[in-house]
Amino acid sequence: MKKVSVIGAGIGGLVSAILLSRKGYDVTLFEKNGNTGGKMNQVYLDNFRFDIGPSLITMPFVFEDFFKEIGRRMEDYVTFRKLEINCRYFYTDGTVFNSYNEKNKFRKEIEEVFGKETLNGFDKYFSYAEKLYKLSAESFLFNPFTIKNFFNLQGIINAGKFLSKKSLHKLHEDFIPDKKFIQFLDRFATYNGSNPFSAPSLFAIIPYVEIEFGGYFIENGIYKLAESLEKICNEENIRLRKNSTFLGIVKEDKNIKSIKIRNSDKEEEIIEQDFIVANFTNDISLTGSKYLGNRNWSMSGFIVLLSVKKTFPELAHHNIIFSDDYGKEFTELSREKKPAEDMTVYISISSKSSLSDAPENCENWFILVNVPNLLDFNEWNYDFTESYKEKIISKIESTGLKIRDSIINSKVITPSDLSEMYGTEYGSLYGLSSDSLNLMMKRPANKSANYKNLFFACGSSHPGGGVPLCFLSAKIVSKLIEKQK
Ligand SMILES: Cc1cc2nc3c(=O)[nH]c(=O)nc-3n(C[C@H](O)[C@H](O)[C@H](O)COP(=O)(O)OP(=O)(O)OC[C@H]3O[C@@H](n4cnc5c(N)ncnc54)[C@H](O)[C@@H]3O)c2cc1C
Repeated sequence: MKKVSVIGAGIGGLVSAILLSRKGYDVTLFEKNGNTGGKMNQVYLDNFRFDIGPSLITMPFVFEDFFKEIGRRMEDYVTFRKLEINCRYFYTDGTVFNSYNEKNKFRKEIEEVFGKETLNGFDKYFSYAEKLYKLSAESFLFNPFTIKNFFNLQGIINAGKFLSKKSLHKLHEDFIPDKKFIQFLDRFATYNGSNPFSAPSLFAIIPYVEIEFGGYFIENGIYKLAESLEKICNEENIRLRKNSTFLGIVKEDKNIKSIKIRNSDKEEEIIEQDFIVANFTNDISLTGSKYLGNRNWSMSGFIVLLSVKKTFPELAHHNIIFSDDYGKEFTELSREKKPAEDMTVYISISSKSSLSDAPENCENWFILVNVPNLLDFNEWNYDFTESYKEKIISKIESTGLKIRDSIINSKVITPSDLSEMYGTEYGSLYGLSSDSLNLMMKRPANKSANYKNLFFACGSSHPGGGVPLCFLSAKIVSKLIEKQK
């Protein structure tokens, strides 16, 4: 039986371990933290529960396929629930837009809020994005990112109207007359930590995927998915070694002979195996200094958790309070490399759908704001952190949502905390920036270029960040290992 060491029990690590175990490999999974799930994580403040990573899941078919592949019924582990309103958007001029999950309702809302011309523009844009998705999904999402696939993709993009050089924002301007609806579409670039004003127009597949396949919440919290994956690891007799940190490799030519682990007793161990799957790309011994020497990393996040002794019927489960000027916000984030003065604020209140997440007549607010990664901005001392939290609360209150006096308890998670918790490169949420196809080529491929028996299954490798793509990353890796024999 061939042995596999999977290092990192984030989503890509857990899913790789399960898929490889099902294929007959002898799998050990090492995780530096005391819990699994990586960025899919949860925190309690008194009797309030918060998902502090992913809060909205797309591409449900990816999860259905996974459970089918491992011979289990998804409903025995997790229940995906489509919310009526995917997200409620608040603009500074008082406009409120509900992004409904049901397509006809969504189109009707566009017409009512932004007018007929914008709806017509959206319909044309959506057919364009659909074509882009259908043409690129096979070579980009479901298979390794090889040179051949890259040139297929370039070919597709360069063919006729698929212009790769155009930014996502510019593409939206080509189709949509209303600035506020453009801001709605632009925001999807932030789903992988990108700037819509420089991200490639190829990313029109992100809004397409959410609008076409819907946005989902998981009953009893998103973290239930990580718990279920850990449960399956146990059912599959995968050796799960928590509090075990990867320290380095022992190499033999183009192979990694063994890995060094500091185990839960703080002792160093040497582990031999045939294949290694890394669920992170932050280690120079695995990815090399050239990769980590890059300057362009995706954005980080500033998180505020609030336990609130009041309910806000004007808010949905997912909400966005937009900045007044998206262009200015991204200039501050990307060029001036500082947190934005007038920031876009995301508020997710899972207790609206999962009643046990907060006591009666209370709410659990998970607030997320995009901020630069630590290479670009690293001044998260106590005073700055507190003042930025206050600015965010003032921004929320400026929309008429009087929250300040109803806060029971709060907790802040900064980019420095994220870097320490998950070991991400410079606190970036999605690894190397995806702001151009060239940068995307610089991500570590699923199969290492340096070592024959090393593979990467994670959001900072291919096909990219986000929970469904991490499942796909693991699936690609499990197939590559099987092929290698
Ligand atoms: C605040 C936030 C909000 C998000 N929102 C969404 C969302 O709404 N929808 C969505 O789909 N996605 C979202 N994402 C992205 C999504 O969470 C990630 O893309 C995905 O969970 C990353 O999984 P991964 O497989 O790359 O592993 P990671 O989560 O990066 O986990 C890597 C694991 O490796 C471990 N590790 C690191 N170094 C070592 C070492 N030396 N030894 C041993 N173990 C090590 C870490 O502790 C960690 O457990 C969000 C992320 C964040 C942080």
